[in-house]
Amino acid sequence: MYKSGLPLLVLAALLSGCNSDDNDSPTPDNQNTGTVVKSDLITATHYSDIADATVWQDPENQNKHRLIVTLEGDGLAIFDENGSEVFNDDSSEFLGADIRYGIKDINGNAVDLLAVGLPEEESIRFFSVFDNTIEPLGDISLPVEPSAICLYKNITTGELTATATSEEGDVIQYKIEFENGEISSTVNDEFGDPIAVRHFNVGGELSACIIDDQNATLYVAEQDLGIWAYGSDAENVKERRLVDSIEPLGHLQEVEGLEMVYQPNGKGYLIAADEGAGFLVYSRDHNNDYLGKFEVDGIEEAKALAVANQALWLANTEADEPVYERVSTESLSRKLPDLDVSFSNIIDHRQLHVTGVSLVAASGETKEVDDDGDAADDPAFWLNPDDVSQSLIIATNKQGGLMAYDLQGNEIQYLEGGEPNNVDIRSDVTDWDGSTFSLAAASNRELNTIALYKISAASDTNPPIQPLTAIGEQIHGAAAELKSNVDEVYGLCLYQAHNGTPYVFVNGKNGTIEQWELSFQASGVEGKIVRTLSVATQPEGCVVDDETSTLYLGEEDHGIWSFSAEPAAATTGTLLASTDGEQLVADVEGLTIYNSGNEKYLIASSQGNNTYVIYDLNNAFELVGTFAIIGNDTLGVDGASDTDGIAATSANLGAAYPEGMFIAQDWYNIDPAYQLENQNFKLVSWKAIIERVR
Ligand code: CA
Ligand code: CA
Ligand code: CA
Ligand code: CA
Ligand code: CA
Ligand code: CA
Ligand code: CA
Repeated sequence: MYKSGLPLLVLAALLSGCNSDDNDSPTPDNQNTGTVVKSDLITATHYSDIADATVWQDPENQNKHRLIVTLEGDGLAIFDENGSEVFNDDSSEFLGADIRYGIKDINGNAVDLLAVGLPEEESIRFFSVFDNTIEPLGDISLPVEPSAICLYKNITTGELTATATSEEGDVIQYKIEFENGEISSTVNDEFGDPIAVRHFNVGGELSACIIDDQNATLYVAEQDLGIWAYGSDAENVKERRLVDSIEPLGHLQEVEGLEMVYQPNGKGYLIAADEGAGFLVYSRDHNNDYLGKFEVDGIEEAKALAVANQALWLANTEADEPVYERVSTESLSRKLPDLDVSFSNIIDHRQLHVTGVSLVAASGETKEVDDDGDAADDPAFWLNPDDVSQSLIIATNKQGGLMAYDLQGNEIQYLEGGEPNNVDIRSDVTDWDGSTFSLAAASNRELNTIALYKISAASDTNPPIQPLTAIGEQIHGAAAELKSNVDEVYGLCLYQAHNGTPYVFVNGKNGTIEQWELSFQASGVEGKIVRTLSVATQPEGCVVDDETSTLYLGEEDHGIWSFSAEPAAATTGTLLASTDGEQLVADVEGLTIYNSGNEKYLIASSQGNNTYVIYDLNNAFELVGTFAIIGNDTLGVDGASDTDGIAATSANLGAAYPEGMFIAQDWYNIDPAYQLENQNFKLVSWKAIIERVR
């Protein structure tokens, strides 16, 4: 299995020597030896092969841990923190090793879960870890021979996945659960066989994988190309990034192992064990900056490593007898000041879990939008005054038009045209002739305008969304829409004053907010700007509480503001909540109000951590709680993440929504078989939300 590193080093040196004749690219800095550290201990037992390793860390005692190693043909072994072997199982060939803690079943029984790969059986095997032994929890069979295994536990939802890679470039991910004393796939076909929730091909041979649970990032090592970063959630299809590549472009030669180092406050590192280049250290943030590397005295080829709170274990496969060597994190930190990295305060996965986020399953979803990519954006409710069960969801496709959905999520109308970004509705607006109608307004980014519509009940002859004609001075030349002066129209919301006058707030990316007053004539709607407000940086989501005449506005990177919505009022705002990286995490996106008469809440989409934050508007903006929208595999509905627009209503919309409905845009919409579809909106029972949050 192992290739000698020496010929590769020679080859690399030769190649770089040849290249320097044709171009004068600088000598890669990884030709220099990195900082050299010494190990303080070597495992007492040795085996002819070493595959991968992971550490089980004792929760009570920082100094106590177990090193769990896979040894290919020699099976699997466990060593204590002093390198003494305490367990061995050579019944199968094992490779890959990863661990997650506190995996609970429905009764609250919890296991510390080890996953390893079985190349001969083509499966992933799961074990629960107890101090000095492990007990099998079942297998998931794979369509390929695994080359590496990694686990992922979503730190908010607790959802768990196991991912296998192959030498042919496959990445195959299963959603798993602990039930009846076993680990099994939660998504299965009609025969009960597991369905992968994600299966893609990276390109070349994959040698290692690791998942950063906190940043929801999957790293895979493509041995002859470099390290890639993907989103780690099964329904997350964010574009991949190249973290580092093979020299001379990057610092790598042949990656064999990957490991995470977690520290408090999101700090820590990604470490790559590279056969030719040593142990390379990268920052854990989105940039994955290369910070430097270290080598361990006597380890000629870096192959695998595992991280405990107080020590790193590094495989030495080129020793006379392959062993793991222990380096204390203290001595590592002392040796690496020139790299500006510190291995102090290492924490394990147990400490990453976010507490206090209520999990609420979606109960429905709308049809996917017409365009792929980032398209669905903002929803609003239209409540049918004659039959509330026939109410509609009006929502934007910012690439192409406005949709009307029924309460089951079926599309009733797609009105193509413009690039409507945000939409809002007021249902009791008085027209020029004294009749009342429902008014919708949308920010149209194609023309930098406010588009106006009339919403009414759907019938065979009457599509519910009808465009209105804007008239007067400030209309666009190409369309009967109100022409805004803001930099680039973005967020939008409506306000209806106590005297019945409707106003539109529209904001632009530069922080300007225009307040338009609308008036109605037989020939159309006239608008005039009556006031301008501003915030320092990009706003978007906004909503007005008509009862108190208060405008709530999200400044995406900063927090939630309130302003008086009255045109004659002062323009000073009040910052009600700041992004704090915990509860409210940038971007602040959609805002909506839930008002039942007794209870009145402001809800904000905290896009950065895929949650929604509820504030009590009847109680000094007190934080009520936060929730996340998870999927329901039984219903075949997925969860919501990276949400832009949201909307809430307290109207009783039937048995499924007795206290109203909450809608959230979902960036990553998948079908029941976990195939990606265009974006859509998730429907959630408000009763389910508030019962869990309170
Ligand atoms: Ca590992
Ligand atoms: Ca809206
Ligand atoms: Ca944003
Ligand atoms: Ca935004
Ligand atoms: Ca948006
Ligand atoms: Ca989703
Ligand atoms: Ca779906």
